[in-house]
Amino acid sequence: MTIKKILIQATLRLEENKIDTPRLDAEILLAYVLNCRRLTLYTDAEKILTDEQISRFEKLIELRIKKIPVAYLIGTKEFFGLNFVVNENVLIPRPDTEILTQCAIEFLQTFDGEKNFLDIGTGSGAICISILKFCKNSFAAATDISEKSLEVAKFNAKKFNVDDRVNFFCGNLFEPIGEKKFAAIISNPPYIPTAEIKTLQDEVKNEPLRALDGGEDGLNFYREIISKSPKFLLNGGLLAVEIGINQAVAVKKIFAENNFCDIEILKDLAGLERVICARQKF
Ligand code: SAM
Ligand code: GLN
Repeated sequence: MTIKKILIQATLRLEENKIDTPRLDAEILLAYVLNCRRLTLYTDAEKILTDEQISRFEKLIELRIKKIPVAYLIGTKEFFGLNFVVNENVLIPRPDTEILTQCAIEFLQTFDGEKNFLDIGTGSGAICISILKFCKNSFAAATDISEKSLEVAKFNAKKFNVDDRVNFFCGNLFEPIGEKKFAAIISNPPYIPTAEIKTLQDEVKNEPLRALDGGEDGLNFYREIISKSPKFLLNGGLLAVEIGINQAVAVKKIFAENNFCDIEILKDLAGLERVICARQKF
């Protein structure tokens, strides 16, 4: 069996099983098994595979058919140009979340004072580790309710050599933080309304429910985070949160009710309102 042939077969199987991007997924999984780049699958198209390679690849294709996301199968996901380790205990970082990350980096780079920030619901650590990597003199605290996700975040912090600039805490939102104040607070909280969870793609349903469920209207975490943030922000500090579809008006209102100023809405590449950020009044 050659690379070319097995890719054609696997693509067909994934297609028949209604996988959205069958050829791409087959290529990523085969490149993973062969420990090579995707381009090599084309330059070495006639290369014969060993029985062991075929059997490992076929097992991955079976799992992909069961709607296990590719990132969980290969154990990594690229975010902000960095290759994060992921497993089924963490949300797979989304490209949309790069907007929130960029917003925090730009703010911290111009912030006059100690550049310490808090990431609430850190998951794989993608947001805070990317900020630390691209904002050299910054420091972070990060919380998550899931002990297992923090294990992944800690692993990633070591992998990217920023573990000396971040402290991870397990617990509910701000509870493990104590009295500290930050230049910025960042969060991509769970924001899917509970009733919509069952309508999500099967792949997303294989991600941790606790990372997705934002309560009846999806806004539970915004109410808590925005109302409690002022106590943890320095004067002029920034609170920035990712939001879901059609949540901008409601979340903006919560910011205004809690006395924030300079409220800004940022759009993602698809033109959807994706991030709201605001400043603590001086
Ligand atoms: N920050 C990561 C990212 O953007 O890829 C993960 C975001 S995920 C949407 C939300 C995260 O919040 C999950 O890791 C989940 O475990 C965490 N979480 C849920 N409830 C929480 C709570 N009450 N306190 C702290 N973290 C919580
Ligand atoms: N953006 C994620 C999704 O599309 C949801 C993540 C979240 O709830 N913050 O499923």
